[in-house]
Amino acid sequence: MTNASMAAVSAATPYARSASWFERAQRVIPGGVSSPVRAFRAVGGTPLFITRGAGSQVFDADGNAYLDMVGSWGPLIAGHAHPAVVEAVTQAVARGTTYGAPCAAEVELAERVTAAYPAAEQVRFVSSGTEAVMSAIRLARAYTGRDLIVKFAGCYHGHADHLLVAAGSGLATFGRPSSAGVPEAFTACTRVLPLDDEAAAEELFAREGPRIAALIVEPFPANHGLLVQRPEFLTTLRRLTQEHGALLIFDEVICGFRLARGGAAEVLGIRPDMATFGKVIGGGMPVGAFGASRRIMSRLAPEGDTYQAGTLSGNPVAMSAGLATLDLLERESGWARLTALGAEAERLLAPVLATAPYPLQLVRAGSLLWLSLHGGGAPRDATPLSPQETARFAALFHAMLARGMYLPPSAYEGCFLSLAHSPADLQRFAAALRESLRAAA
Ligand SMILES: *Cc1c(COP(=O)(O)O)cnc(C)c1O
Repeated sequence: MTNASMAAVSAATPYARSASWFERAQRVIPGGVSSPVRAFRAVGGTPLFITRGAGSQVFDADGNAYLDMVGSWGPLIAGHAHPAVVEAVTQAVARGTTYGAPCAAEVELAERVTAAYPAAEQVRFVSSGTEAVMSAIRLARAYTGRDLIVKFAGCYHGHADHLLVAAGSGLATFGRPSSAGVPEAFTACTRVLPLDDEAAAEELFAREGPRIAALIVEPFPANHGLLVQRPEFLTTLRRLTQEHGALLIFDEVICGFRLARGGAAEVLGIRPDMATFGKVIGGGMPVGAFGASRRIMSRLAPEGDTYQAGTLSGNPVAMSAGLATLDLLERESGWARLTALGAEAERLLAPVLATAPYPLQLVRAGSLLWLSLHGGGAPRDATPLSPQETARFAALFHAMLARGMYLPPSAYEGCFLSLAHSPADLQRFAAALRESLRAAA
């Protein structure tokens, strides 16, 4: 299409250019996307093709502006294209994009992470959260000499084969308990427990404790909505793993450097044996990391016998984005500001949610927000939404989109606030939600 004819179509539908890109994408990329939830299958319609992000806003191929509540699913804690991050990345790129050799920036970021997170005396960098978890699990098995891994239904730990069991939104959305292409033998060493259930955990450890290498948990599970746990439940997991010589792994890929400088471990006052990071520590670049005590980490090659590697691990450009982001959070009292912003959102949304013609509640942990369509109290385990509830979300999603609000395109996904979100943004969000709910009534 020429620009002129595209403009003509644009007048008819506000998403014409995104639709045209989506058509092209579907020919050469399965489902037209590089990660499934982006395809809008859970809400219907055309995924937006984003051309630019600035602060709290994104702009699509048709030139529409939106308040971005997705934040690239967590990394963009400073907002889009923050000048300090752009400057750091630009300077790093000019010095070369990768060396395949050690560089100062990875030492500096490792120093920053270990200083903030006492349980991680050492860290190693990888290029995604998936890799971080995969490597942490291998290391936990090597260190303990045991095979079994325990995870929780509704927790997502990336897409490694042995963890792709009852694993959160992407799979909940598609109604599949697991994925094709994962041999049963690969998940034979994985045990799945329900969240919020001490008795089930006690029972599993009583039965299989001596074979359990590690228990992995998202301390604030944020991949099946936001399932805030009772602190006693997490304390029980700490005690059980300790008693049975298993390692407790906190998957802090979302919570780390978001809920507090010391992540969920700091908020909860629980010290895990290992932790995995991603999202925020990469400042919008592909970065993951895993850490533990020096004793555990020394089992990694080249010091130890556990192999782990990566061509682009500790990449200087990615490290510089992470450093600039953590600097900014420190310098601007980022964590206090984000928590205050979350509280402000809760205050503004409370009277609006009360006008909803169906059950709708805000679940919040710091700057993580989830609009939950569950009736009753905030859910603590991975309870599926009914078809009626997901249909309500789809309608709400599109009503909000039409009002310039970009929500995550799934009822099981939360919103991420950033330092770029202003109180005025939150007021606009609340007003749009009020109108959208009125339209639904
Ligand atoms: C996003 C996420 C991952 C996977 O990270 P990727 O960078 O997408 O591979 C792992 N664990 C948690 C808790 C996550 O939210």
